[in-house]
Amino acid sequence: VEPASRRDVPARHFVGGKVPLGLKRKGLRVLVTGGAGFVGSHLVDRLLERGDSVIVVDNLFTGRKDNVVHHFGNPNFEMIRHDVVEPILLEVDQIYHLACPASPVHYKYNPVKTIKTNVVGTLNMLGLAKRINARFLLTSTSEVYGDPLQHPQVETYWGNVNPIGVRSCYDEGKRTAETLTMDYHRGANLEVRIARIFNTYGPRMCIDDGRVVSNFVAQALRKEPLTVYGDGKQTRSFQYVSDLVEGLMRLMEGEHIGPFNLGNPGEFTMLELAKVVQDTIDPNAKIEFRENTQDDPHKRKPDISRAKELLGWEPKIPLREGLPLMVTDFRKRIFGDQDSAAT
Ligand code: NAD
Ligand code: UDP
Ligand code: UDP
Repeated sequence: VEPASRRDVPARHFVGGKVPLGLKRKGLRVLVTGGAGFVGSHLVDRLLERGDSVIVVDNLFTGRKDNVVHHFGNPNFEMIRHDVVEPILLEVDQIYHLACPASPVHYKYNPVKTIKTNVVGTLNMLGLAKRINARFLLTSTSEVYGDPLQHPQVETYWGNVNPIGVRSCYDEGKRTAETLTMDYHRGANLEVRIARIFNTYGPRMCIDDGRVVSNFVAQALRKEPLTVYGDGKQTRSFQYVSDLVEGLMRLMEGEHIGPFNLGNPGEFTMLELAKVVQDTIDPNAKIEFRENTQDDPHKRKPDISRAKELLGWEPKIPLREGLPLMVTDFRKRIFGDQDSAAT
C-alpha cells in the first residue's frame, strides 16, 4: 500500500507554512507501538519495505527483540524500550497503536496492567497524536462483541460483554480504547482509524502463548496431545497475518474511520481446527479434552462487507495455506532446524 498523503514533512509544522529545503523526506515517519510483537513486527517489515522510517515503542512484555533484530542497523529503524502507560514525546506522521498483550493467558496474567495499557496507554498515544497532529490507528478486537448474540458479527452490533468477568480487562479495556479514540476524533479533530481484528495466526507468534493455533501447532510438533477446551464445538475464524497487515495499511491510508472488522470469514470449530493441524503436521496426533475457560465466546465470525466495500480489502490466504507457513517457523524455533525455509 502506497502512502496516500504526507510523503513530506507537513508544511503546517513550519513558520510560514514552508518546508525548509533539506527536510523533505521520501517516506513517512511511523510509530508502531507493540512493534516487537507478533502482528507489529510483520507490519514493521512492510512499512520499512515501503520506504518509511519506523520507530517501535515496546516494553517487551510479550514481544521479542528477535522479531525485529533483522532491522537493527537499518538507519530507518529505531526501537525504544518503553511502556505506553508512561507519557512519551516523539515526532511522527502516523501512529499504529498495537501495544497490548493479545493472548488470553497473557492479558489475564496481570489484569490491572492490561486495563492500564488499554486505557492509560491509549490515552497517552492519543495525547501524543494530538500534539503532533499524527494520524492514529487503534487495533481493537473482535472481543468487543463479547459472546455475540448476532452471527456473523457486523460493525454496527454493540456486543454482549460481561463487565466483571476475567476477560473484561481486555474486552472492556479495548471498548474504552475505542471510546477514547472517537472522543479525541470528535473533541480534538484528530484523524483516527479503528480496526477490529479477529483471531490472527502466523510466524513469530509466541510458542507457548496459550492461543489455540499456537498451542495446537506446538503440541503436534512435539508429539503431545492437542488440548481441546470444552466440547470443541465453539468456533473461531482464523486470519493469516499478512492479510491483516494489508488491511491495517489500507485502513490507515484510506479515508474511512471505521470501525472495520479485519478477519477471515472462514469459520472452524476447535475440533475442525484440530483436524486441519493433524492433516498438516501429524495425522496420528491425539486429542485431549480439557475444561474450558470462563466466559469463552461460543462463536465468532466477521462480516467483512464494510472492509470489502470501503477498503477494497479481503483476506487471500485460507487456513490450509497459511498454517504450513507458520509450521515452518515453529519447527525452526522449537527444534532449531536450520534447514527449514526462513520466514
Ligand atoms: P503480541 O502480544 O504479540 O504483541 C503485543 C506487543 O505489545 C508486544 O510486543 C508487547 O511487548 C507490547 N506491549 C504490551 N503491553 C505494552 C505496554 N504497556 N507498553 C509497550 N508495549 C507493550 O500480540 P499481537 O497478536 O501482535 O497483537 C497486537 C495487537 O493486535 C494487540 O493490540 C491486540 O489486542 C490486537 N489483536 C490481535 C489479535 C490476534 O489474533 N493476534 C486479535 C485481535 C486484536
Ligand atoms: N502525552 C504524551 N505525549 C505527548 C502528548 C501527550 O504521552 O506528546 C500524554 C500526556 O501525558 C497525557 C495524555 O497523553 O497524559 C493525554 O494528553 P492530552 O494533551 O490529550 O490531555 P491532558 O494532558 O490535557 O490531560
Ligand atoms: N482453545 C482450545 N485449546 C487450546 C487453547 C484454546 O480449545 O489449547 C480454545 C478456547 O477455549 C477458545 C478458542 O480455542 O474457544 C480460541 O482461543 P484463543 O485463546 O486462541 O483466542 P480467543 O479467541 O479466545 O481470544
